[in-house]
Amino acid sequence: MASRKLSSLLSLSSCFSSSSFGNPSSSSHVSVCISRFTTFASIEKPINPSVKIEHNQLLIDGKFVDAASGKTFPTLDPRTGNVIAQVAEGDAEDINRAVSAARKAFDEGPWPRMTPYERSCILLRFADLVEKNMDKVSALETWDSGKPYDQVANVEVPMLVRLIRYYAGWADKIHGLTLPADGSYHVQTLHEPVGVAGQIIPWNFPLVMYGWKIGPALACANTVVLKTAEQTPLSALYVTSLLYEAGLPPGVLNVVSGFGASAGAPLCSHMDVDKIAFTGSTETGQRILEMAAKSNLKSVTLELGGKSPFIVCEDADIDQAAELAHFALFFNQGQCCCAGSRTLVHERVYDEFVEKAKACASKRVVGDPFQKGVQQGPQIDEKQFQKILKYIRSGVESGATLEIGGDRCGSKGYYIQPTIFSNVKDNMLIAQDEIFGPVQTILKYKDLDEVVRRANATQYGLAAGVFTQNLATANFLSRALRVGSVWINCYDVFDAAIPFGGYKMSGQGREKGIYSLSNYLQIKAVVTPLKNPAWL
Ligand code: ADP
Repeated sequence: MASRKLSSLLSLSSCFSSSSFGNPSSSSHVSVCISRFTTFASIEKPINPSVKIEHNQLLIDGKFVDAASGKTFPTLDPRTGNVIAQVAEGDAEDINRAVSAARKAFDEGPWPRMTPYERSCILLRFADLVEKNMDKVSALETWDSGKPYDQVANVEVPMLVRLIRYYAGWADKIHGLTLPADGSYHVQTLHEPVGVAGQIIPWNFPLVMYGWKIGPALACANTVVLKTAEQTPLSALYVTSLLYEAGLPPGVLNVVSGFGASAGAPLCSHMDVDKIAFTGSTETGQRILEMAAKSNLKSVTLELGGKSPFIVCEDADIDQAAELAHFALFFNQGQCCCAGSRTLVHERVYDEFVEKAKACASKRVVGDPFQKGVQQGPQIDEKQFQKILKYIRSGVESGATLEIGGDRCGSKGYYIQPTIFSNVKDNMLIAQDEIFGPVQTILKYKDLDEVVRRANATQYGLAAGVFTQNLATANFLSRALRVGSVWINCYDVFDAAIPFGGYKMSGQGREKGIYSLSNYLQIKAVVTPLKNPAWL
């Protein structure tokens, strides 16, 4: 929809301020506390999605095909656990087919040989088609992932469109340098595509991760084999059909649905893949580096886990800080690698902050993601749902104070109450592990040196939030924190031009922005003797 506002893209937070929806109504009892949430009856009676599943095969060499084995797997509706559709299950043989198609498209096809302007035009037409089919794309994504439709349609699909247009803009601006080398030589650098890129994406932002990955790869004239997450295969298949409709030559982007061990691993070990880009867990990231090293030393970029601190200073605007801390954690059902999952609050404002955080959580609207106004849908699947409930039990057992929530919502699907723990200590599991769910942990600190030490005392280094009105404090903290992104008095600001990636075990390399292009380029030095050195 051309009329949809793109201004919201710059800040997810502006769209999902906790205060903008609903009032508390129903109540639910748990053993340890009483919680009040706004919930919709539609948790028990799911709304029928108005979209048909048209693409459930693999997309290889520009054609939809069955898996070589003929196998399929079910993709499930997180609202109920019911099967949405059977999807072709790719394995090593399908990865071989997809890599061969991508190799042929790179070595012999028109894609790397057409003018950069022509590539740019195809990407721009693709962005237009996604925009034109916004409702269908959004419905598919909501159904498969359980994300609120409002969030998908107003933020995530526009963000995909923005990413594609951003990278279309780069396609004809990639060029090398002429260097003043010593001696009588003309030296230039050519920026060339790396070749066949293998890309593996997770389930928490299927379309946005798709854009982060394919955008720079295609802008730099590479060909791609993309493996989607087994929980959310549908949206990538559909939007890639639109990319072919926009004029992409066969084999340039191949999409293989399937599981990590049987489809992801063969892609990482493949001898004819030149590069792997991965987003997912730190554990899988380590395996991927090993596979790359043991096969052909392909280059690897990784965007992995986090346990990001959200630091509230004593001079912060506490109302605003509580709302943004709420957003930083609860956005997307808490399923964000950069979730502000350690809320560190100065002792002088701690009690006031906890009360305000509770007020935000009590207003959160949990319900069927297709219902207008819903802010929180179900978790992605049974496994994540059980894992989160286990962390909640561990928080209670380790002595943290359960302020609100702590149980499932309704009796169907994978909904969890917005949950807050106060009096959390650094050594508790809930303060150390990535919970990946709607569970906020609020810790207390005394001074800035202490909070820096504690914020950095983790294997992760993905992101941090800083809430202060003092410029010197903001400057000090943004330099002292060992993380790839620092958001000051804001959170989750994700424009296509802003680089994103992790320090330490949160990853390697940066995605988005100008920095992401270098992940998909080889630099070649070309040296020619000069006849007349006087003109150096
Ligand atoms: P999560 O626990 O959040 O699902 P994973 O790291 O397991 O995170 O999964 C992220 C992506 O990595 C998915 O597409 C998944 O299929 C893929 N994956 C999982 N294990 C492997 C593996 N051993 N090799 C390659 N890809 C994998």
